[in-house]
Amino acid sequence: MEKKDLFGYPYAQLEAEMLSRGESKYRARQLYGWIYEKGVYDFEKMTDISKAFRETLKNEYALSFPKIFQRQDAKDGTIKLLLEMDDGAKVETVLMRYNYGNVACVSSQVGCNMGCAFCASGLLKRERNLTSGEMVGEVMVLNQILKEEGQNVTHVVVMGTGEPFDNYENVISFVRVINEQRGLAIGARHITVSTCGLVPGIKKYGREGLQINLAISLHAPNDTLRNQIMPISKAYKMPELLEAIKDYEENAGRRVTFEYILIKGFNDSVDCANELADLIHDSGIFAYVNLIPINPVKEKGFLRPSGEAIHAFHDRLMKRGINTTIRKEFGTDIDAACGQLRAKYQKSTQ
Ligand code: SAH
Repeated sequence: MEKKDLFGYPYAQLEAEMLSRGESKYRARQLYGWIYEKGVYDFEKMTDISKAFRETLKNEYALSFPKIFQRQDAKDGTIKLLLEMDDGAKVETVLMRYNYGNVACVSSQVGCNMGCAFCASGLLKRERNLTSGEMVGEVMVLNQILKEEGQNVTHVVVMGTGEPFDNYENVISFVRVINEQRGLAIGARHITVSTCGLVPGIKKYGREGLQINLAISLHAPNDTLRNQIMPISKAYKMPELLEAIKDYEENAGRRVTFEYILIKGFNDSVDCANELADLIHDSGIFAYVNLIPINPVKEKGFLRPSGEAIHAFHDRLMKRGINTTIRKEFGTDIDAACGQLRAKYQKSTQ
């Protein structure tokens, strides 16, 4: 029998699981206490739980840590891990150190089917979804590394490999576990889920009653350009996408962030900046824009604009009244771009 991974259970769901076994729901509290407060992962050592039930836990449940298969440390403190799951699947997880905290960039799938032209993750098709427990495991492994420095993960972005809304339920469970006060207690405003624009997911997410941030990978101010780099834009066209984002903003009461990769000679002109400003203003969406100078992926042949072009784009958006930031870059001396480490590993084994 496959053991159930306790890392995957949001608190309320663990209570329900315990009740369904005829145990008191207080068991959930004990388990969360051992796991997330005390850092005890061996059921045998959970001494306030009866011996008989500890035996059941041992036989039917697990607390499964991904194994560190490869580790790269960058000069700026960025750590990139290639993790190995129980079935051998390899997944990338990155730790970035901002001045405001330790940010974990978590993968949501093994490979990705979205096929964005500029992205290394899409070089490898989706093999399967990650479970919520495996995603919690990604954060737990980073926490174990940070513990040696007396620190822990303070922020999580679901911006690793995979499309979170193509694995909706598991991602929501994951978010609930890390956000849970008795769990990892990472504040909702410190958690960001990023989507390439899956409309049904955006609408559903707005109704979860979570105060989690939502980022939308836009990357172009119109469908003509977007179609060339993001196949998803053929399934959900700009008007439909914008409508879903408005729906989200109304239901969640939160603003979204548009991510916009700057690609030299493709979408980095001041005209594009103006068109983006028009698009945002006309839609009535209250969005921030986060500009990401493209992390060139050798296999793809996309180039990064000059610093001047990046700043001109930024300044134009600001002048047009749109709150815009340029993403800080980390780990440029290691394979830090999405999917690079895994793609390289996979290639080396072929
Ligand atoms: N599928 C989700 C989340 C994973 S990608 C999404 O599309 O949002 C996380 C972010 O990294 C996205 O904005 C994605 O477009 C961006 N990204 C992918 N490849 C990149 C590259 N080579 N350089 C810069 N950003 C990249």
